[in-house]
Amino acid sequence: MIIGVMAVQGDFSEHLATLKTLNVQTQEVRLPKDLEGVDGLIIPGGESTTLRKLFDIYKLTDPIKRYAQSGNPIWGTCAGMIMMAQTLTDDRPEPLNLMNVTVKRNAYGRQLNSFEADIPVSVIKGNPIHAIFIRAPSFTYIGENVEVIGKLNDGTPVAVKQDNMLATAFHPELTNDVRFHKFFISLIK
Ligand code: GLN
Repeated sequence: MIIGVMAVQGDFSEHLATLKTLNVQTQEVRLPKDLEGVDGLIIPGGESTTLRKLFDIYKLTDPIKRYAQSGNPIWGTCAGMIMMAQTLTDDRPEPLNLMNVTVKRNAYGRQLNSFEADIPVSVIKGNPIHAIFIRAPSFTYIGENVEVIGKLNDGTPVAVKQDNMLATAFHPELTNDVRFHKFFISLIK
């Protein structure tokens, strides 16, 4: 099994490091050909406007969309979640339109308003997940077929699943807890 991590921008090395601790083979994805033979794909956090520009420059936009639409597991964290959305409340960047959700960028304010919270995640057994939010996005609309799997204490949804697709507003790759990555791997048939 090989998990690909989009490696054009953002905190891809943290995702790769987490996957390595799980003894999973990884592939850094920088060009469309890197998607060949990849069984699951992670879009990391970073800066969504830059990510989107680089996807276009390296001709990755359509291959990523086709990859997801073919039913392959794909997971976006933070800026990656922004990419997964159908629509944004901002007029840029143009998201990949994969999940039936609307996303608001920088929903909790600026860098200074970054925060951490322990959240129960319905698909993960045991203790709550320690979730790190860095200039995090939020969902302003969650459509049909999208399951909320994690919420803040006040009920704000922060993790969702739609069939083969996952999106989280927070960064499991920045903690030592590997359970979210394990869950993602479990989506691979
Ligand atoms: N605020 C960033 C954006 O809009 C996302 C932040 C992150 O990925 N940690 O792209």
